[in-house]
Amino acid sequence: MTKRSITETEVRGKRALVRVDFNVPLRDGEVADDTRIRATLPTIEDLLHRGAAVVLATHLGRPKGKPDPAYSVAPIARRLSELLGASVATVPVVVGPEAEQAAAALDPGEVLLIENTRFEPGEESNDPALAGALARLGDLFVNDAFGAAHRAHASTVGVAERLPSYAGPLLQREVTTLSRLMDNPERPFVAILGGAKVSDKLGVLDHLLGKVDALLLGGGMANTMLLAQEHEIGSSLAEPDRVNDARRLVDRAAERGVLLLAPTDVVTAESLESTVTKVVSVADVSADQSIFDIGPDTIARYCQEIFTAGTVFWNGPMGVFELPAFENGTLAIARCVADANAFTVVGGGDSLAAIEAAGVGERIDHIATGGGASLEYLEGRTLPGIAALPDA
Ligand code: ADP
Ligand code: MG
Repeated sequence: MTKRSITETEVRGKRALVRVDFNVPLRDGEVADDTRIRATLPTIEDLLHRGAAVVLATHLGRPKGKPDPAYSVAPIARRLSELLGASVATVPVVVGPEAEQAAAALDPGEVLLIENTRFEPGEESNDPALAGALARLGDLFVNDAFGAAHRAHASTVGVAERLPSYAGPLLQREVTTLSRLMDNPERPFVAILGGAKVSDKLGVLDHLLGKVDALLLGGGMANTMLLAQEHEIGSSLAEPDRVNDARRLVDRAAERGVLLLAPTDVVTAESLESTVTKVVSVADVSADQSIFDIGPDTIARYCQEIFTAGTVFWNGPMGVFELPAFENGTLAIARCVADANAFTVVGGGDSLAAIEAAGVGERIDHIATGGGASLEYLEGRTLPGIAALPDA
């Protein structure tokens, strides 16, 4: 899927209103992690070099539709200014006369960051008045915030309907990669799904089952699959009310000829605090133990599938990788994905942390940064922020 792109549009002398995802963590009033800001620099710098003035809009945290100094974008403006090596103008409002004057006063090559869009009650309800007021801040609109594309908000959808609108390069890259994964994957297509709960990922599991050649399960969600296979899982994290969903996945996989694998051996302990761990077959988990990681046979079997894949998608850790005693499965899978001869995509907050912990981030083809937006895309849902942009 290709959207009309800002990189191929003449912008000289125009004011570009750019929706970015600067929803970054703050600590003591400063930006604690500027990854998202740095990721957007090429978009901003390209517009500035090509003679546009840039008005930036982002949400930050959840300020509940009214101004809250704790969620002001001021620290972001400071950090962005350092990164750009140029001053970044700010206004204490999102829209209105003061914002319009500041936007109108920009010369080509200058940047304004308006206040947190969620200071306005009309943002999340996609209020037409707010969308109209935002549209008065630019001559054209660029959406480069894939992470916000699953929400029909005034700053993602309403404004896109009121100005000539374009996809930014970051958003386009996410859409191109995820649509390649879903519509045109190199086969075999192997997906690895883990994480805490089946219920979080049922939509993705369902949709992926219609696309992949093999689905490998791990983490807490695999425990529910083991329950469905009537194994003892002790006091492991699991969702007994999802056992029927797990059985349905098994049936659908069989109908479609998808290889569906659950762990065959696991790492167990009495509790997360316990340092005494055991590696046992899934048939031999005792009632006083819990499953906290996948075992070596499972790792070997999963990596065998990963090594013969043409496309690999991974979301969700294989165990409680935050603790050294239970990190092995997740780190081993991370290394196998990195070593694979396939087009590799990893998505999800904790999965990215695992990729970092394994030190293999550079060897993954695409890191999906969209969080909830990526998952909704992989569930086969239409993302309103993307639907609102014209096709190329
Ligand atoms: P992501 O953020 O990558 O989508 P999730 O949020 O779904 O991943 O799941 C990550 C969490 O799942 C981690 O905090 C991890 O500790 C937990 N987890 C994985 N395996 C288990 C397990 N066997 N028991 C309990 N928690 C688990
Ligand atoms: Mg998570």
